[in-house]
Amino acid sequence: MSTKYIFVTGGVTSSLGKGIICASLGRLLSARGLRVTIQKLDPYINVDPGTMNPYEHGEVYVTDAGAETALDLGHYERFLDLPTSQPNNVTTGRSYYDVIMKERKVAYLGKTIQVVPHITDEIKSRVRALGETGHYDVVIVEVGGTVGDIEGLPYIEAMRQMRYDVGRKNTLSIHLTLVPYLKAAGEVKTKPTQHSVKMLQESGLQPDILVCRAEVPLEASIRKKIAQFCNVEVEDVIASLDAKSIYEVPLLMLDEGLDARVIEKLDIKVKSDLNLDVWRKFVKSVRNPSKNVKIALVGKYVEHHDAYMSIVEAFIHAGAVNDCCVEIDWVQSDDLTEENVGQKLNGISGILVAPGFGGRGIDGKLAAVTYARTNNIPFFGICLGMQCAVIEFARNVCGLEGANSAEFDAKTEFPVIDIMAEQKNIKNMGGTMRLGKYDCKLIPGTKSSAAYGSDLISERHRHRYELNNDLRKQLEDCGLQVAGTNPDRELVEIVEIPENRWFVGVQFHPELKSTVRNPHPLFVGFVEAALDYQAES
Ligand code: GLN
Repeated sequence: MSTKYIFVTGGVTSSLGKGIICASLGRLLSARGLRVTIQKLDPYINVDPGTMNPYEHGEVYVTDAGAETALDLGHYERFLDLPTSQPNNVTTGRSYYDVIMKERKVAYLGKTIQVVPHITDEIKSRVRALGETGHYDVVIVEVGGTVGDIEGLPYIEAMRQMRYDVGRKNTLSIHLTLVPYLKAAGEVKTKPTQHSVKMLQESGLQPDILVCRAEVPLEASIRKKIAQFCNVEVEDVIASLDAKSIYEVPLLMLDEGLDARVIEKLDIKVKSDLNLDVWRKFVKSVRNPSKNVKIALVGKYVEHHDAYMSIVEAFIHAGAVNDCCVEIDWVQSDDLTEENVGQKLNGISGILVAPGFGGRGIDGKLAAVTYARTNNIPFFGICLGMQCAVIEFARNVCGLEGANSAEFDAKTEFPVIDIMAEQKNIKNMGGTMRLGKYDCKLIPGTKSSAAYGSDLISERHRHRYELNNDLRKQLEDCGLQVAGTNPDRELVEIVEIPENRWFVGVQFHPELKSTVRNPHPLFVGFVEAALDYQAES
């Protein structure tokens, strides 16, 4: 079977959950033995989201190979349990960058470089490159943005051309749209969908399937009307009702027959019967947990939950393993002080100090660490959170007054966290951190090695600073345990406080590797410790 390409566009408004629809369809197809990957096409001019403020773009998702990508790739990995890499995320910036570089080398032999055909060709070649690896039966292509956006046009044109290039029978166009319910009128409205489809048609792309986000079930008459006005079959009008959790969406799409329509229209030969056993079991645990536990997430971007997307999802996975619902208490680190921390974190059974960059909110994070450490509350520090744990320990346990990270105080007498040697002369900020997977050797007998059940692990990274090995002995002498190091260069990857019930700080980002099928062991261990603490207190 030749590779099938499924293009998913969105209309009417953003935030309809295109990424989740793509991931859900991917899950349903791979549950039938098909090899599926998902690619995100982003219409912005940044080369990648690595330089964007988390308030703008949410979390930057990092792949094994160190690509800084859109957070949708996190959903793809969590749903498909398969790693993604740089080719899974294309941006306008990256395409233009490469086209311009080629032009400078006269690779186009003196031609005038234009959006059509040069940019559209570049986009097409990046989409086809995934199919041409031979690794996939189906490539799902999520086109970012909303139909009608000026910057989305080259992508729509590229999709239109691809239907011709690789053949209609090998491509499918799915359009995700909104069918709003107007309370005052007491009815659902199809006009926005009609307009959105018209706009897509103006660009030459006719959707084969419409996925309609709706708050209320779509009656037969509404489906018929949408089908008639948008040139699709009634069976190809799929309702996507608001779900309690994103993990329910594959099951809702299964009930609506989205995968069945895709398989039929693309004439796909499935390789096995549908097997969603693990998924169904997981959804059942998420739906009916018998316990509840409250965990504080201390960070400076907490108003924008997308900035911590993978952490939130990792807690859902770990909650399901522990038969509990992890309730996140979002705590703005800027608002925390030594004086109010007890009151602000009252009733909390675990404290997570989040990753981040820059000095804002650091004092609040340090107050949260002190509170967790001195009250023996389960603590999990991730990246900057781990660095804060080290600073706090240096100041308040080792008595190293003014100890700090060189990121916040370049002149500190005790730079317990310092810039990595290879980072010192870097001027270009895009894609230059220590990124992607590195090995970590665990020390037997630590909480971390118990959680992983292994001595050698590999985790993903995104940082410029590290624990300063010149001051490591001083910290260890005071009781900070180094629980894991990178075997190649002795970089400290994990610290623990052994006498506390569960106090773990990691330089890497465990949240990026947690999936439905493989919940992350450190998150599972942290939630378990929080439940124990809750039961005791
Ligand atoms: N700002 C810190 C560093 O660059 C931590 C990074 C992070 O939390 N991802 O090392």
